[in-house]
Amino acid sequence: MTQPCIFCEIAAGRMDAEIVHQDERVVAFRDIHPQAPTHVLIIPRKHIVSMLEIGDDDAPLIGHMHVTAKNLAQTLGLAQRGYRSIFNCGQDAGQTVWHIHLHLMGGRSMGWPPW
Ligand code: 5GP
Repeated sequence: MTQPCIFCEIAAGRMDAEIVHQDERVVAFRDIHPQAPTHVLIIPRKHIVSMLEIGDDDAPLIGHMHVTAKNLAQTLGLAQRGYRSIFNCGQDAGQTVWHIHLHLMGGRSMGWPPW
C-alpha cells in the first residue's frame, strides 16, 4: 500500500500544521524543522511531485505561489530586510517531500551559495 502524501494530508486538513494562509489554490504553513526564524512552506492543493512535472498550464499556479510568498513576507514582517524563496527539485537539490513546495525563509542574514 502506498503512503498518503503528507502535504496533501495537510492541505486537506487531515494532518496538523500551523497554517498561516490558505485559499482555493494554495496552503501555507510553518516548516516543522525551521531553518530560519520564519520558515514557511507554500504548497499547491494540486498534487505535483516535483518541479520537473509542471506544465505550461501550471504557470498561473506557480506564479500564484510566488505572489503568496511576497504577500506572506509582508504580513510576517520580512519585507524590510528581505527573504529567500526556494524550490528544491530532485535529489541533488535536497528535495525530501514529493509534493512541490516553495520555501519562504527570512528573519536572518543568509549566505550564498547555499551549500
Ligand atoms: P525539501 O527538503 O523537500 O525541499 O523540504 C521539505 C520540508 O518539509 C523540510 O524543510 C521539512 O522540515 C518539512 N516537513 C517535512 N515533513 C513535514 C511535516 O509533516 N510538517 C511540516 N510542517 N513540515 C514538514
